[in-house]
Amino acid sequence: MAQHFDYICLGAGSGGIASANRAAMRGAKVLLIEAKALGGTCVNVGCVPKKVMWYGAQVAEAMHLYAKDYGFDVSVNKFDWSKLVESREAYIERIHGAYDRGLDSNGVTLVRGYGRFVDNNTIEVNGEHYSADHILIATGGTPTIPNIPGAEYGIDSDGFFALNEQPKRVAVVGAGYIAVELAGVLHALGSETHLFVRKHAPLRSFDPMLSEALMESMATDGPSLHTHSIPESVTKNADGSLTLKLENGESYEVDTLIWAIGRRPSTDKIGLENTDVKLNDKGYVVVDAQQNTTAKGIYCVGDIIEGGIELTPVAVKAGRLLSERLFNGMTEAKMDYSLVPTVVFSHPAIGTMGLTEPEAIAQYGEENVKVYNSGFTSMYTAVTAHRQACKMKLVCAGKEEKVVGIHGIGYGMDEILQGFGVAIKMGATKADFDAVVAIHPTGAEEFVTMR
Ligand code: FAD
Ligand code: NAD
Repeated sequence: MAQHFDYICLGAGSGGIASANRAAMRGAKVLLIEAKALGGTCVNVGCVPKKVMWYGAQVAEAMHLYAKDYGFDVSVNKFDWSKLVESREAYIERIHGAYDRGLDSNGVTLVRGYGRFVDNNTIEVNGEHYSADHILIATGGTPTIPNIPGAEYGIDSDGFFALNEQPKRVAVVGAGYIAVELAGVLHALGSETHLFVRKHAPLRSFDPMLSEALMESMATDGPSLHTHSIPESVTKNADGSLTLKLENGESYEVDTLIWAIGRRPSTDKIGLENTDVKLNDKGYVVVDAQQNTTAKGIYCVGDIIEGGIELTPVAVKAGRLLSERLFNGMTEAKMDYSLVPTVVFSHPAIGTMGLTEPEAIAQYGEENVKVYNSGFTSMYTAVTAHRQACKMKLVCAGKEEKVVGIHGIGYGMDEILQGFGVAIKMGATKADFDAVVAIHPTGAEEFVTMR
């Protein structure tokens, strides 16, 4: 007989853990099922280890590019990649412990194993059956690799985090967040790094100012950017190195090849054929505005919903709001997927929220859009021989100049955006921005002093 719960969450990643804890805090009897490590993609092979590597890259840049002009005579004997990995993994272990304790104190039952739906109300794990009135699917996604000869010689972002030694020569293929972030980190830590993108630029869906400024930074500081570069095949050489051949006839020899060409939803092996849950043709779960799937009592949040936004805080917020609706009487609770701020941990960092300039023009008409730009050298690098540019943009719409888009690339942008996000979510206008006294000297002050 199946053990019965009020709520089962399948997948203990960002969305599943947040929803399970919140439901238990509201009095529900909750079961959480996880096949791998607690915390899912973000904690184990995503945001957290990526950010630690990015901080490592900041330390390297401080020593190699800036220390000298700040008066430090730094000589680096060696960089120990495995030490950085050890520190990173020890931190992740502490996070696992904190999650375990949090689930325990909220009274969430954790079962480790791979769960599959048996029917609309029942999940099987390790041969045991568990049933519930409400079930959340929060199984996240996995990286994809292309369908070309030799693709299997490359690794993906999960493989990057499994590297115990620093690769000397690396090819990163892809033009999204992950490709840009991993290429930036590898380059700053000293690997010879090549970034291959299929079209004219990385981050093409971002505001053009951001992708252009990123390319300018890559042109002067690296990594080597190869545009219009479509992989054709990969071969493994006798010495273990790899040759990446492109459709344009060029080829490059590297030690490690990283595919960062997107992710696919983990929805194909979880028994959804035994339920009434509808998937789209790419395997994403079809949900309504309140995370209901097409099966009564089954919900979905996170990376695997159709038309969603693949960010941890989005999965967390959607998961918590769902639990408030199901177990705390907040019948109208639903996630607002508009105006989500996001940061790319590139070199320098990018922060962006709302409409790009072309999107605003398409939506409001050119005559109703006013754009403010600012470009300067970050003060951190104004006293050093190596300079780093900072570029910022406000996209405003209508007579009242409501700020509908904010975009920046430069020193500190990763920390600057959050507060401005609050103002924009509240509907701030350019005049509201200008009414605030600037904090000087900072990069952020540019956003309230633009002319
Ligand atoms: P996940 O976190 O992927 O969790 C799903 C969990 O379900 C996994 O633990 C998996 O093992 C488990 N599971 C799957 N199937 C089953 C099953 N049948 N039974 C039991 N368990 C199962 N987002 C940010 O906001 N900021 C960042 O800086 C950032 N950096 C990233 C860097 C990388 C390299 C990657 C890959 C992603 C990054 N993201 C970042 C995205 C972020 O990690 C995801 O948006 C987030 O983890 C999605 O949460 P989720 O709950 O949907 O799924
Ligand atoms: P992505 O969808 O952002 O980028 C994939 C890129 O690969 C695209 O630019 C695409 O043009 C390119 N591509 C696709 N097929 C290709 C092929 N065959 N050959 C060459 N290039 C190809 O995906 P991602 O970088 O894997 O990231 C997934 C998601 O995870 C992101 O959209 C983001 O939401 C999230 N993420 C967020 C952060 C952050 O918040 N800082 C960091 C990493 C990932």
